[in-house]
Amino acid sequence: MNALTQLSEEERMFQEAVRDFAETEVRPRVQAMEKAAQLDPALIPKFFELGLMGIEIPEAHGGAGGSLFMTVLAVEELSALDASVAIFVDVQNTLVNALLLKWASDDIKQRYLPKLCADLVGAYALSEAGSGSDAFGLATKATKRGDTWILDGRKLWITNGADAGFFVIFANTDFAKGYKGITAFAVERGFKGFSVGKKEDKLGIRASSTCELILEDCRVPKANVLGEVGKGYKIAIETLNEGRIGIGAQMLGVARGAWEYASKYAQERKQFGKPISDFQGIQFQIAQMATEIEAARLMVYNAARMKDAGMNFVKEAAMTKLFCSQVAERVTSLAIEIYGGYGFTRDYPVEKYWRDSKIGKIYEGTSNMQLATIAKLVMGGK
Ligand SMILES: Cc1cc2nc3c(=O)[nH]c(=O)nc-3n(C[C@H](O)[C@H](O)[C@H](O)COP(=O)(O)OP(=O)(O)OC[C@H]3O[C@@H](n4cnc5c(N)ncnc54)[C@H](O)[C@@H]3O)c2cc1C
Repeated sequence: MNALTQLSEEERMFQEAVRDFAETEVRPRVQAMEKAAQLDPALIPKFFELGLMGIEIPEAHGGAGGSLFMTVLAVEELSALDASVAIFVDVQNTLVNALLLKWASDDIKQRYLPKLCADLVGAYALSEAGSGSDAFGLATKATKRGDTWILDGRKLWITNGADAGFFVIFANTDFAKGYKGITAFAVERGFKGFSVGKKEDKLGIRASSTCELILEDCRVPKANVLGEVGKGYKIAIETLNEGRIGIGAQMLGVARGAWEYASKYAQERKQFGKPISDFQGIQFQIAQMATEIEAARLMVYNAARMKDAGMNFVKEAAMTKLFCSQVAERVTSLAIEIYGGYGFTRDYPVEKYWRDSKIGKIYEGTSNMQLATIAKLVMGGK
Protein backbone atom coordinates (compact mmCIF):
# COMPACT_ATOMS: atom_id res chain seq x y z
CA MET A 1 0.00 0.00 0.00
CA ASN A 2 1.23 3.50 -0.82
CA ALA A 3 1.13 6.54 1.45
CA LEU A 4 -1.05 9.29 -0.02
CA THR A 5 1.96 11.57 -0.21
CA GLN A 6 4.12 8.99 -2.00
CA LEU A 7 4.51 10.19 -5.56
CA SER A 8 5.28 8.13 -8.64
CA GLU A 9 8.46 9.01 -10.52
CA GLU A 10 6.38 10.79 -13.17
CA GLU A 11 4.43 12.78 -10.54
CA ARG A 12 7.59 13.76 -8.68
CA MET A 13 9.34 14.93 -11.84
CA PHE A 14 6.29 16.92 -12.90
CA GLN A 15 6.01 18.53 -9.45
CA GLU A 16 9.69 19.50 -9.58
CA ALA A 17 9.34 20.95 -13.07
CA VAL A 18 6.40 23.12 -11.97
CA ARG A 19 8.23 24.16 -8.78
CA ASP A 20 11.29 25.23 -10.82
CA PHE A 21 9.08 27.08 -13.28
CA ALA A 22 7.27 28.86 -10.45
CA GLU A 23 10.56 29.91 -8.84
CA THR A 24 12.21 31.15 -12.01
CA GLU A 25 9.29 32.53 -14.01
CA VAL A 26 6.49 33.35 -11.55
CA ARG A 27 8.25 34.59 -8.39
CA PRO A 28 10.05 37.51 -10.08
CA ARG A 29 6.76 38.73 -11.58
CA VAL A 30 4.38 38.42 -8.60
CA GLN A 31 4.63 41.96 -7.26
CA ALA A 32 4.39 43.66 -10.64
CA MET A 33 1.38 41.55 -11.66
CA GLU A 34 -0.34 42.33 -8.35
CA LYS A 35 0.22 46.07 -8.91
CA ALA A 36 -0.88 45.95 -12.54
CA ALA A 37 -3.85 43.70 -11.63
CA GLN A 38 -3.10 41.51 -14.61
CA LEU A 39 -1.02 38.50 -15.54
CA ASP A 40 2.20 39.25 -17.38
CA PRO A 41 1.28 38.36 -20.99
CA ALA A 42 4.78 36.91 -21.44
CA LEU A 43 3.91 34.18 -18.93
CA ILE A 44 0.97 32.79 -20.87
CA PRO A 45 2.91 31.12 -23.74
CA LYS A 46 5.22 29.64 -21.11
CA PHE A 47 2.30 27.86 -19.41
CA PHE A 48 1.48 26.24 -22.74
CA GLU A 49 5.13 25.33 -23.48
CA LEU A 50 5.45 23.54 -20.15
CA GLY A 51 2.25 21.59 -20.83
CA LEU A 52 0.41 23.23 -17.93
CA MET A 53 -2.67 24.11 -19.96
CA GLY A 54 -3.49 20.58 -21.11
CA ILE A 55 -2.38 18.36 -18.26
CA GLU A 56 -5.17 15.78 -18.55
CA ILE A 57 -5.69 16.02 -22.30
CA PRO A 58 -4.53 12.81 -24.00
CA GLU A 59 -1.35 12.95 -26.04
CA ALA A 60 -3.35 12.16 -29.18
CA HIS A 61 -4.98 15.60 -28.82
CA GLY A 62 -1.66 17.31 -28.04
CA GLY A 63 -1.87 17.18 -24.23
CA ALA A 64 0.33 15.75 -21.50
CA GLY A 65 -1.89 12.67 -20.90
CA GLY A 66 -1.70 13.23 -17.14
CA SER A 67 -4.15 12.95 -14.26
CA LEU A 68 -6.19 15.20 -11.99
CA PHE A 69 -3.59 14.35 -9.34
CA MET A 70 -0.92 15.97 -11.52
CA THR A 71 -3.16 18.98 -12.00
CA VAL A 72 -3.49 19.48 -8.24
CA LEU A 73 0.26 19.14 -7.84
CA ALA A 74 0.69 21.96 -10.36
CA VAL A 75 -2.01 24.13 -8.80
CA GLU A 76 -0.47 23.76 -5.32
CA GLU A 77 3.01 24.66 -6.56
CA LEU A 78 1.80 27.73 -8.47
CA SER A 79 -0.46 28.90 -5.63
CA ALA A 80 2.40 28.77 -3.15
CA LEU A 81 3.79 31.73 -5.11
CA ASP A 82 0.75 33.28 -6.77
CA ALA A 83 -2.88 32.22 -6.52
CA SER A 84 -3.78 34.24 -9.64
CA VAL A 85 -1.39 32.30 -11.83
CA ALA A 86 -2.72 29.11 -10.27
CA ILE A 87 -6.39 29.83 -10.98
CA PHE A 88 -5.55 30.64 -14.59
CA VAL A 89 -4.13 27.14 -15.03
CA ASP A 90 -6.74 25.53 -12.77
CA VAL A 91 -9.79 26.82 -14.68
CA GLN A 92 -8.33 25.68 -18.00
CA ASN A 93 -7.67 22.16 -16.72
CA THR A 94 -10.36 21.34 -14.18
CA LEU A 95 -13.29 23.21 -15.73
CA VAL A 96 -12.78 23.76 -19.46
CA ASN A 97 -10.65 20.81 -20.56
CA ALA A 98 -12.28 18.38 -18.13
CA LEU A 99 -15.74 19.34 -19.39
CA LEU A 100 -14.76 18.87 -23.02
CA LEU A 101 -13.05 15.55 -22.33
CA LYS A 102 -16.11 14.19 -20.58
CA TRP A 103 -18.99 15.69 -22.54
CA ALA A 104 -17.97 17.07 -25.94
CA SER A 105 -18.55 15.34 -29.28
CA ASP A 106 -15.51 13.94 -31.10
CA ASP A 107 -15.85 16.79 -33.58
CA ILE A 108 -15.59 19.42 -30.83
CA LYS A 109 -12.73 17.57 -29.17
CA GLN A 110 -10.84 17.51 -32.46
CA ARG A 111 -11.53 21.16 -33.15
CA TYR A 112 -10.68 22.59 -29.74
CA LEU A 113 -8.55 20.28 -27.58
CA PRO A 114 -5.33 20.64 -29.63
CA LYS A 115 -5.74 24.42 -29.52
CA LEU A 116 -6.41 24.38 -25.77
CA CYS A 117 -3.05 22.61 -25.39
CA ALA A 118 -1.25 25.00 -27.77
CA ASP A 119 -2.38 28.59 -27.32
CA LEU A 120 -6.11 28.87 -26.60
CA VAL A 121 -7.16 30.05 -23.13
CA GLY A 122 -10.54 28.85 -21.85
CA ALA A 123 -13.16 30.18 -19.43
CA TYR A 124 -16.24 28.67 -17.79
CA ALA A 125 -19.32 30.87 -17.64
CA LEU A 126 -22.18 29.80 -15.41
CA SER A 127 -22.77 32.66 -12.94
CA GLU A 128 -24.86 35.75 -13.61
CA ALA A 129 -25.76 38.87 -11.63
CA GLY A 130 -28.95 37.25 -10.38
CA SER A 131 -27.81 33.64 -10.10
CA GLY A 132 -24.79 32.55 -8.09
CA SER A 133 -25.50 29.88 -5.48
CA ASP A 134 -28.79 29.31 -7.27
CA ALA A 135 -26.87 28.73 -10.50
CA PHE A 136 -29.77 27.04 -12.27
CA GLY A 137 -31.79 30.23 -11.95
CA LEU A 138 -29.70 31.63 -14.82
CA ALA A 139 -31.47 33.97 -17.23
CA THR A 140 -29.30 33.70 -20.38
CA LYS A 141 -31.56 32.49 -23.15
CA ALA A 142 -30.73 30.26 -26.13
CA THR A 143 -33.13 30.24 -29.09
CA LYS A 144 -32.83 27.89 -32.05
CA ARG A 145 -32.84 29.47 -35.50
CA GLY A 146 -32.12 26.92 -38.22
CA ASP A 147 -28.67 25.48 -37.66
CA THR A 148 -27.75 28.20 -35.22
CA TRP A 149 -28.42 28.89 -31.55
CA ILE A 150 -28.89 32.55 -30.64
CA LEU A 151 -27.67 33.41 -27.14
CA ASP A 152 -28.87 36.47 -25.26
CA GLY A 153 -27.87 37.48 -21.75
CA ARG A 154 -24.98 38.44 -19.50
CA LYS A 155 -22.53 36.41 -17.48
CA LEU A 156 -20.75 37.83 -14.45
CA TRP A 157 -17.53 37.00 -12.58
CA ILE A 158 -15.93 35.00 -15.36
CA THR A 159 -12.35 34.01 -14.51
CA ASN A 160 -9.86 34.36 -17.39
CA GLY A 161 -12.47 36.48 -19.19
CA ALA A 162 -9.91 39.06 -20.37
CA ASP A 163 -7.48 36.46 -21.70
CA ALA A 164 -9.70 33.68 -23.01
CA GLY A 165 -10.49 32.92 -26.63
CA PHE A 166 -12.86 30.05 -25.78
CA PHE A 167 -15.84 30.12 -23.44
CA VAL A 168 -18.12 27.39 -22.13
CA ILE A 169 -21.43 29.22 -21.72
CA PHE A 170 -24.53 27.91 -20.01
CA ALA A 171 -27.90 29.14 -21.28
CA ASN A 172 -31.49 27.99 -21.00
CA THR A 173 -33.09 26.67 -24.20
CA ASP A 174 -36.53 26.21 -22.64
CA PHE A 175 -37.44 28.07 -19.45
CA ALA A 176 -40.69 26.08 -19.22
CA LYS A 177 -38.57 23.03 -18.41
CA GLY A 178 -36.77 24.86 -15.60
CA TYR A 179 -33.21 23.63 -15.00
CA LYS A 180 -33.80 20.87 -17.56
CA GLY A 181 -33.61 23.54 -20.26
CA ILE A 182 -30.02 24.44 -19.37
CA THR A 183 -27.53 23.69 -22.14
CA ALA A 184 -23.77 24.16 -22.47
CA PHE A 185 -22.32 25.87 -25.55
CA ALA A 186 -18.77 26.21 -26.89
CA VAL A 187 -18.39 29.87 -27.80
CA GLU A 188 -15.40 31.49 -29.50
CA ARG A 189 -14.43 35.05 -28.68
CA GLY A 190 -14.86 35.97 -32.34
CA PHE A 191 -18.46 34.77 -32.64
CA LYS A 192 -20.83 37.49 -33.75
CA GLY A 193 -22.72 39.02 -30.81
CA PHE A 194 -20.15 38.04 -28.18
CA SER A 195 -18.14 40.55 -26.21
CA VAL A 196 -16.25 40.82 -22.94
CA GLY A 197 -17.45 43.56 -20.60
CA LYS A 198 -16.16 45.15 -17.42
CA LYS A 199 -13.25 43.66 -15.48
CA GLU A 200 -13.73 43.56 -11.70
CA ASP A 201 -11.44 45.40 -9.28
CA LYS A 202 -10.98 42.82 -6.52
CA LEU A 203 -9.75 42.25 -2.95
CA GLY A 204 -7.57 39.27 -3.87
CA ILE A 205 -6.34 37.22 -6.82
CA ARG A 206 -5.97 40.64 -8.40
CA ALA A 207 -3.90 39.50 -11.35
CA SER A 208 -6.59 37.01 -12.35
CA SER A 209 -9.10 38.63 -14.71
CA THR A 210 -12.74 38.40 -13.62
CA CYS A 211 -15.07 39.77 -16.30
CA GLU A 212 -18.60 40.25 -17.42
CA LEU A 213 -19.56 38.55 -20.71
CA ILE A 214 -22.15 40.12 -22.98
CA LEU A 215 -24.22 38.00 -25.36
CA GLU A 216 -26.34 40.02 -27.75
CA ASP A 217 -27.86 37.97 -30.50
CA CYS A 218 -24.73 35.82 -30.26
CA ARG A 219 -24.64 33.19 -32.98
CA VAL A 220 -23.42 29.73 -32.03
CA PRO A 221 -23.41 26.90 -34.59
CA LYS A 222 -25.56 23.87 -33.69
CA ALA A 223 -22.42 21.72 -33.74
CA ASN A 224 -21.10 23.72 -30.77
CA VAL A 225 -23.59 22.32 -28.26
CA LEU A 226 -21.60 20.56 -25.53
CA GLY A 227 -23.22 17.26 -24.61
CA GLU A 228 -26.97 17.13 -25.16
CA VAL A 229 -29.47 19.98 -25.22
CA GLY A 230 -31.07 20.14 -21.73
CA LYS A 231 -28.18 18.35 -19.99
CA GLY A 232 -26.28 21.51 -19.08
CA TYR A 233 -27.31 21.31 -15.41
CA LYS A 234 -25.68 17.87 -15.08
CA ILE A 235 -22.60 19.00 -16.99
CA ALA A 236 -22.28 22.11 -14.80
CA ILE A 237 -22.61 20.22 -11.51
CA GLU A 238 -20.32 17.35 -12.43
CA THR A 239 -17.64 19.68 -13.75
CA LEU A 240 -17.73 21.81 -10.60
CA ASN A 241 -17.45 18.71 -8.41
CA GLU A 242 -14.07 18.08 -9.96
CA GLY A 243 -13.18 21.76 -10.00
CA ARG A 244 -13.57 21.97 -6.23
CA ILE A 245 -10.61 19.66 -5.76
CA GLY A 246 -8.58 22.18 -7.78
CA ILE A 247 -9.73 25.03 -5.52
CA GLY A 248 -8.73 22.90 -2.53
CA ALA A 249 -5.26 22.63 -4.09
CA GLN A 250 -5.17 26.37 -4.68
CA MET A 251 -6.01 27.07 -1.03
CA LEU A 252 -3.45 24.47 0.10
CA GLY A 253 -0.79 26.27 -1.93
CA VAL A 254 -1.82 29.68 -0.58
CA ALA A 255 -1.56 28.38 3.01
CA ARG A 256 1.80 26.74 2.31
CA GLY A 257 3.25 29.85 0.68
CA ALA A 258 2.29 32.06 3.64
CA TRP A 259 3.56 29.47 6.12
CA GLU A 260 6.93 29.24 4.37
CA TYR A 261 7.38 33.00 4.63
CA ALA A 262 6.21 33.12 8.27
CA SER A 263 8.37 30.29 9.50
CA LYS A 264 11.47 31.78 7.84
CA TYR A 265 10.71 35.25 9.16
CA ALA A 266 10.22 33.94 12.69
CA GLN A 267 13.76 32.59 12.63
CA GLU A 268 15.19 35.92 11.44
CA ARG A 269 13.24 38.48 13.44
CA LYS A 270 14.79 39.21 16.84
CA GLN A 271 12.97 40.55 19.89
CA PHE A 272 14.10 40.40 23.53
CA GLY A 273 17.57 39.52 22.19
CA LYS A 274 16.62 36.32 20.37
CA PRO A 275 14.73 35.12 17.28
CA ILE A 276 10.98 35.17 17.90
CA SER A 277 10.99 31.48 16.85
CA ASP A 278 12.68 30.76 20.19
CA PHE A 279 9.42 31.65 21.93
CA GLN A 280 7.12 28.71 22.47
CA GLY A 281 4.10 30.88 21.64
CA ILE A 282 5.43 31.35 18.09
CA GLN A 283 6.65 27.74 17.78
CA PHE A 284 3.18 26.45 18.62
CA GLN A 285 1.57 28.71 16.05
CA ILE A 286 3.97 27.50 13.37
CA ALA A 287 3.38 23.88 14.36
CA GLN A 288 -0.41 24.31 14.33
CA MET A 289 -0.25 25.89 10.87
CA ALA A 290 1.96 23.07 9.55
CA THR A 291 -0.44 20.48 10.91
CA GLU A 292 -3.45 22.08 9.29
CA ILE A 293 -1.59 22.35 5.98
CA GLU A 294 -0.72 18.65 6.16
CA ALA A 295 -4.37 17.76 6.79
CA ALA A 296 -5.44 19.95 3.87
CA ARG A 297 -2.87 18.30 1.60
CA LEU A 298 -4.08 14.81 2.52
CA MET A 299 -7.67 15.80 1.66
CA VAL A 300 -6.65 17.26 -1.71
CA TYR A 301 -4.48 14.29 -2.61
CA ASN A 302 -7.09 11.77 -1.56
CA ALA A 303 -9.95 13.46 -3.42
CA ALA A 304 -7.85 13.74 -6.59
CA ARG A 305 -6.71 10.12 -6.36
CA MET A 306 -10.35 9.05 -5.83
CA LYS A 307 -11.37 10.89 -8.99
CA ASP A 308 -8.51 9.37 -10.96
CA ALA A 309 -9.46 5.92 -9.67
CA GLY A 310 -13.02 6.36 -10.95
CA MET A 311 -14.52 6.40 -7.43
CA ASN A 312 -17.39 8.62 -6.33
CA PHE A 313 -15.69 11.70 -4.87
CA VAL A 314 -18.50 14.26 -4.53
CA LYS A 315 -18.53 14.38 -0.72
CA GLU A 316 -14.73 14.38 -0.47
CA ALA A 317 -14.44 17.18 -3.06
CA ALA A 318 -16.91 19.38 -1.15
CA MET A 319 -15.16 18.66 2.16
CA THR A 320 -11.77 19.39 0.60
CA LYS A 321 -12.80 22.80 -0.73
CA LEU A 322 -14.58 23.71 2.51
CA PHE A 323 -11.68 22.70 4.76
CA CYS A 324 -8.79 23.94 2.61
CA SER A 325 -10.34 27.40 2.31
CA GLN A 326 -10.73 27.54 6.11
CA VAL A 327 -7.13 26.47 6.61
CA ALA A 328 -5.93 29.03 4.07
CA GLU A 329 -7.74 31.87 5.80
CA ARG A 330 -6.48 30.86 9.28
CA VAL A 331 -2.90 30.21 8.23
CA THR A 332 -2.52 33.38 6.16
CA SER A 333 -4.03 35.45 8.96
CA LEU A 334 -1.59 33.99 11.51
CA ALA A 335 1.27 34.60 9.06
CA ILE A 336 0.45 38.32 9.17
CA GLU A 337 0.50 38.23 12.98
CA ILE A 338 3.89 36.49 12.99
CA TYR A 339 5.23 39.31 10.81
CA GLY A 340 3.77 41.84 13.28
CA GLY A 341 3.39 45.38 11.92
CA TYR A 342 5.44 44.54 8.85
CA GLY A 343 2.89 41.87 7.94
CA PHE A 344 0.24 44.56 7.74
CA THR A 345 2.08 46.44 5.00
CA ARG A 346 2.29 45.85 1.28
CA ASP A 347 6.10 45.86 1.49
CA TYR A 348 5.99 42.32 2.82
CA PRO A 349 4.44 39.35 1.07
CA VAL A 350 2.01 37.88 3.59
CA GLU A 351 -0.94 40.28 3.43
CA LYS A 352 -1.43 39.28 -0.23
CA TYR A 353 -1.77 35.64 0.74
CA TRP A 354 -4.50 36.55 3.22
CA ARG A 355 -6.39 38.56 0.58
CA ASP A 356 -5.95 35.73 -1.92
CA SER A 357 -7.28 33.17 0.57
CA LYS A 358 -10.71 34.80 0.82
CA ILE A 359 -11.92 33.69 -2.60
CA GLY A 360 -11.64 30.02 -1.61
CA LYS A 361 -14.83 30.35 0.43
CA ILE A 362 -16.74 31.97 -2.42
CA TYR A 363 -16.15 30.62 -5.93
CA GLU A 364 -17.15 27.23 -7.31
CA GLY A 365 -19.84 27.14 -4.62
CA THR A 366 -19.69 29.10 -1.35
CA SER A 367 -18.85 27.35 1.91
CA ASN A 368 -22.55 27.16 2.71
CA MET A 369 -23.16 25.36 -0.58
CA GLN A 370 -20.38 22.87 0.23
CA LEU A 371 -21.93 22.31 3.67
CA ALA A 372 -25.33 21.73 2.05
CA THR A 373 -23.82 19.07 -0.24
CA ILE A 374 -21.93 17.43 2.62
CA ALA A 375 -24.99 17.46 4.90
CA LYS A 376 -27.14 15.87 2.21
CA LEU A 377 -24.60 13.11 1.65
CA VAL A 378 -23.68 12.37 5.26
CA MET A 379 -27.30 12.40 6.40
CA GLY A 380 -28.39 10.09 3.62
CA GLY A 381 -30.60 12.65 1.95
CA LYS A 382 -32.73 13.28 5.08
C1 LIG B 1 -13.16 36.28 -8.24
C2 LIG B 1 -14.33 35.46 -8.69
C3 LIG B 1 -14.18 34.58 -9.76
C4 LIG B 1 -15.28 33.83 -10.20
N1 LIG B 1 -15.13 33.02 -11.31
C5 LIG B 1 -16.24 32.43 -11.85
C6 LIG B 1 -16.16 31.73 -13.10
O1 LIG B 1 -15.08 31.60 -13.71
N2 LIG B 1 -17.30 31.21 -13.63
C7 LIG B 1 -18.50 31.32 -13.00
O2 LIG B 1 -19.49 30.81 -13.54
N3 LIG B 1 -18.61 31.97 -11.80
C8 LIG B 1 -17.51 32.54 -11.23
N4 LIG B 1 -17.61 33.22 -10.03
C9 LIG B 1 -18.93 33.34 -9.38
C10 LIG B 1 -19.01 32.55 -8.09
O3 LIG B 1 -19.08 31.17 -8.37
C11 LIG B 1 -20.21 33.08 -7.30
O4 LIG B 1 -19.86 34.36 -6.83
C12 LIG B 1 -20.59 32.16 -6.15
O5 LIG B 1 -21.13 30.96 -6.61
C13 LIG B 1 -21.59 32.82 -5.18
O6 LIG B 1 -22.66 33.39 -5.86
P1 LIG B 1 -23.12 34.89 -5.52
O7 LIG B 1 -21.90 35.73 -5.62
O8 LIG B 1 -24.26 35.22 -6.39
O9 LIG B 1 -23.55 34.84 -4.01
P2 LIG B 1 -25.01 34.45 -3.47
O10 LIG B 1 -25.46 33.17 -4.10
O11 LIG B 1 -25.89 35.63 -3.56
O12 LIG B 1 -24.69 34.17 -1.95
C14 LIG B 1 -24.61 35.18 -0.95
C15 LIG B 1 -24.52 34.52 0.40
O13 LIG B 1 -25.73 33.76 0.66
C16 LIG B 1 -25.40 32.42 0.97
N5 LIG B 1 -26.45 31.54 0.47
C17 LIG B 1 -27.07 31.57 -0.73
N6 LIG B 1 -27.97 30.57 -0.83
C18 LIG B 1 -27.93 29.89 0.33
C19 LIG B 1 -28.61 28.76 0.86
N7 LIG B 1 -29.51 28.08 0.14
N8 LIG B 1 -28.30 28.33 2.11
C20 LIG B 1 -27.37 29.00 2.85
N9 LIG B 1 -26.69 30.07 2.42
C21 LIG B 1 -26.96 30.52 1.17
C22 LIG B 1 -24.06 32.17 0.31
O14 LIG B 1 -23.36 31.09 0.93
C23 LIG B 1 -23.37 33.50 0.50
O15 LIG B 1 -22.81 33.55 1.78
C24 LIG B 1 -16.52 33.94 -9.55
C25 LIG B 1 -16.65 34.82 -8.46
C26 LIG B 1 -15.59 35.57 -8.05
C27 LIG B 1 -15.78 36.53 -6.89
